[in-house]
Amino acid sequence: MQTTSIRHSTSIIQTTRLSIVQSAHIAQRMFTLRLDLVESIHGMKYMPKAECPNCSKKLKPLEILKGFNDDPYDFDTTCPGCKHRFSARLVANFRNGGTAELPFYCAIQTLNGLHDKDTLSYEDLKKSYGALFHSAVVHFGSITAAFGRLSIDYPMNERIAWKDKVFGFLGLIPDGVIANVVCVSKYAIQKLRRDLGIKGFSHRKLLED
Ligand SMILES: [Zn+2]
Repeated sequence: MQTTSIRHSTSIIQTTRLSIVQSAHIAQRMFTLRLDLVESIHGMKYMPKAECPNCSKKLKPLEILKGFNDDPYDFDTTCPGCKHRFSARLVANFRNGGTAELPFYCAIQTLNGLHDKDTLSYEDLKKSYGALFHSAVVHFGSITAAFGRLSIDYPMNERIAWKDKVFGFLGLIPDGVIANVVCVSKYAIQKLRRDLGIKGFSHRKLLED
């Protein structure tokens, strides 16, 4: 009995160690793939951007996310080098060739800013609250998914032709993440993936990719 339990905990430690070593790579791949899918579906290519004004370090997107305090009223991220706090930006490239650079909010700030704006149309939200709008798409995959996190049923802005655009992402990122980007249920993605004989998401699969 003792031996079994020791063996069991050793295997947990090994699994944990593996995921600690590789988790940064997995998180980075997930983030990149999700933004690639967002681009393919919504036609907006996003890149969070932050260069520390104190030590000139250029932060990677995940460093920017990690540096937020998850406080709805604190808009700064933290430089992992010198710990200086400053605001991050979000660069959005649009399908029509236009580019915008906006403040980039963390997920908590985004939800806090959106919670009383569900009466606004998709276009009004985008026009009047651009930073909120685009931060929401980056963090949650779509405006509908962001409002969903607030338990608000926000109508979809458009009928999205998504089926042929998600093939390359099936099984590489979780079904629920794809579902949020294309505004359908997780089960619709799961069904399509299974019909195509593609195995579900696993960290291992992402590492092999
Ligand atoms: Zn710095």
